[in-house]
Amino acid sequence: MTSGAQGEDWGQGCGANCFTLDGDGFTCSQVLDEPEVWRVELLMHDTFLPSVNAFVVRDGAETLVVDAGTPDEFNDTRLMRALVGLGVDPERVTLFCTHAHIDHTGLARELSEAGARVVVGEGVAGDMTRLAAHAWRDEMVARMRAEGVGEAEAVELADVIWDHARDFTREGIPFETLAEGDVLRCGRWAFEVVATPGHTPGQCALWEPRTRTAFLGDAVLFLCSTCIGFWGEGEDPIGEQLATLRRLADRGIEHALMGHGLQEGDVAERCLANAAHHERRSARALAAIRETPGQTGFELVPAMGWRAPFERWGETPALTRWFLVSESIAHLDHLVATGAVRRELDAAGASRYVAL
Ligand SMILES: [Zn+2]
Ligand SMILES: [Zn+2]
Repeated sequence: MTSGAQGEDWGQGCGANCFTLDGDGFTCSQVLDEPEVWRVELLMHDTFLPSVNAFVVRDGAETLVVDAGTPDEFNDTRLMRALVGLGVDPERVTLFCTHAHIDHTGLARELSEAGARVVVGEGVAGDMTRLAAHAWRDEMVARMRAEGVGEAEAVELADVIWDHARDFTREGIPFETLAEGDVLRCGRWAFEVVATPGHTPGQCALWEPRTRTAFLGDAVLFLCSTCIGFWGEGEDPIGEQLATLRRLADRGIEHALMGHGLQEGDVAERCLANAAHHERRSARALAAIRETPGQTGFELVPAMGWRAPFERWGETPALTRWFLVSESIAHLDHLVATGAVRRELDAAGASRYVAL
């Protein structure tokens, strides 16, 4: 950080249709003409992702903001400066959050208190109730314990992630919900709410069919493969994500606006490549189970082809260990759901995997 967002050094030009939000290099820049979309790049905390996007769609006097960044006083100032710079009255703003994760909902309170209307898909409201509840933290601990993760580490990993989902009801932020297929209007544009389960159970995208523009949240990224963690008993998030990626590939999206980074090439190709990536990982897990039947989920993690320092597991940051463990378990759930493997409980109550 240099001068920070508290100074007055913002609003400088940074190329065509671009202005700075502070002295730290954060900018608001136009990324699409029709509809008119501006990208507000905000600081991302805790993960290897460099930044998170909030998008501002303008048409006439109406403004739609898609996703609301990670909360901190600098990001709050940056988002508000973007709105001021664009001449947007927060009281005329509708905020739509694609999913409940804190990097997409974090500044909802600031926008709401400034007069914005807050809207989420019904699935997102469901995720807020389920994933932000303390019961979900206990479920995560129990699931990791059953997969062979030690007690202390299971608690550590659950604690590092569970408050990553926010609940507007508990936080007293007023919001409305839209069902899948409902339309959210901004001036001339009509955005359809499309369910995109996988990254979270209830994530919803927005789809504008005339210009073939989609706001995808974290359904697919060009920067990296989006994290898919386990959900509850009998659920198959990897299977849901594969179906979502194939549906998105079939939709004919021309312009994809995502939670992190920008579109870098053909959207359908990227979706199918990401689906193939997950399928390769499941195939690695299946091969490892065939080679050594009866391992626990935790024992299978290193065999799944992650680029990770397993020899220095204890020195690996907890959040990284969480991503590795939770996505590995999701792959095992996928193999169970597709009938490729069976999960057996041993005498100590640990899950062990056998190929069918
Ligand atoms: Zn997310
Ligand atoms: Zn995100």
